[in-house]
Amino acid sequence: MTRKATLSPSKITTYLACPVKYRWTYIDARGKWFLRAKNYYSFGLSLHSALQRFHDSNDLGVTTTEETIASLEENWVSAGYGSPEEAAEALAEGREIVSQYLESAAVAGSEVPPLFVEKQLSLDMGDFTLVGRVDRVDELPDGTLEIIDYKSGSRFSEEELLQDVAMNSYHLLVRKLMPDRRILLTIHMLRAGERITVEQTTEQLDQFAEDVKAIGIEILDREYHEIDPLPKALCNFCDFLPLCERHEEFRESFHQLRQSHS
Ligand code: SF4
Repeated sequence: MTRKATLSPSKITTYLACPVKYRWTYIDARGKWFLRAKNYYSFGLSLHSALQRFHDSNDLGVTTTEETIASLEENWVSAGYGSPEEAAEALAEGREIVSQYLESAAVAGSEVPPLFVEKQLSLDMGDFTLVGRVDRVDELPDGTLEIIDYKSGSRFSEEELLQDVAMNSYHLLVRKLMPDRRILLTIHMLRAGERITVEQTTEQLDQFAEDVKAIGIEILDREYHEIDPLPKALCNFCDFLPLCERHEEFRESFHQLRQSHS
């Protein structure tokens, strides 16, 4: 029996940003030679794992600010930094963020341990399985569930949160698990020390489920070797630019795009 294909929010987001990037990341093995470690991924990963240990009620070794900072230092991911000095600077910022986070009212007010921490969930969507790892789910005193995602990068607006593929996917996954609960979506912006919370309507979430089903089928059915790369702003930051530049038409129009922006 063949296993059903799985799609995660990051696969869907990559496809929506650029189907050619999806090909090089997930389909064509040649892409892996061009992937480069990114310091912002390493930074986010390091913070996530420290906060996960703090919130995990089964992990009695990390319950204080000092222990959480020690955990950050022990599990610090240094890949992608330009120099040891740059990595040390980022670690210092990480320590600062962790101590501010633990001091924040958001944490001080949460006496009840989270319902889930870094939980892998899945949902059968018919042609594929939607999978996702939720950072944290809290259960509020009235039974409402709050899905919390940590962001260490740029700031998010409420509008962006409502449109976010990952958060909407987590919402679908948690709704399947506990269908009768009210569910809130929160992003905790670690650098700014701020949170934003939104609530989707049932209709909005149902529409998202329909859209994800259609996009998922398109992702699985696409003939990737037939897609020509198209220049866009994202190409300037893409690991796969050398691969796409092997196409003469891409190279010429990307060059023109760069000149028009210089
Ligand atoms: S360089 Fe541009 S077209 Fe090529 S994979 Fe990256 S984003 Fe897509």
